Amino acid sequence: MSNKIRVTVWGEFRHEKRDEVVKKHYPDGMHQVIAKALGKNADMEIRTATLDEPEHGLTQEVVDSTDVFTWWGHCAHKDVSDEIVARVYKRVLEGAGLIVLHAGHFSKIFKKLMGTNCSLKWRVAGENKAGETERLWVIEPSHPIAEGLSEYIELPNTEMYGERFDIPTPEKLVFISWFEGGEVFRSGCTWERGHGRIFYFRPGHETFPIFHNPQIQKVLTNAVRWAKPRIIKEDVCPCSPEIEKVGPREFPQIQG
Ligand code: ZN
Repeated sequence: MSNKIRVTVWGEFRHEKRDEVVKKHYPDGMHQVIAKALGKNADMEIRTATLDEPEHGLTQEVVDSTDVFTWWGHCAHKDVSDEIVARVYKRVLEGAGLIVLHAGHFSKIFKKLMGTNCSLKWRVAGENKAGETERLWVIEPSHPIAEGLSEYIELPNTEMYGERFDIPTPEKLVFISWFEGGEVFRSGCTWERGHGRIFYFRPGHETFPIFHNPQIQKVLTNAVRWAKPRIIKEDVCPCSPEIEKVGPREFPQIQG
């Protein structure tokens, strides 16, 4: 068995089929660009899965052999079956990693793991929808997800996401975004659920070539390595065994 991190890159893959601008940036889908970027890492083994495949490409076999999932969805969250979400959820609690990208903040799997509604503010600015500048400030430079990055990543054209982002307080906040319009946003957040590690990463609006950006790809690589399982373990609720005998159990005789 190989020691590589087995990554399943999940993509909704709907916008890319019907929107000309998105198609131009991602003719084969965003998931393929992400998969290709991660595939350059010798320590990773990548496969992709998309919504319209049988079982959304997430059969029991695929889920059971995934160490880290990445998840991009937007317009079709409701089309993801609850049964498949439960399957991925269980795997994350057992120790698999999950990296939720951009509009995945409203996915069933993310909301289920967070327990909040995960809403936020958004805007694609400009008459021609050119967006606005974003600076993703690295506020935890010693965190493994920030390895090799400079002080900030600048994206010249992005969609704005603003606070309040309705999430539980992150266990680590690795990035905060500043936008030209003045808003700020918690753009890189980590949590643990069960034995699994979760990372939410904000960039990735479909009408901009964000996933082609080498610095964004670097963050994804770091995040996969950070999120890989330490153990895979199903926590059940077994009936406790009989008490272990570790010493005398009888009261001493009282003399006299
Ligand atoms: Zn978007």
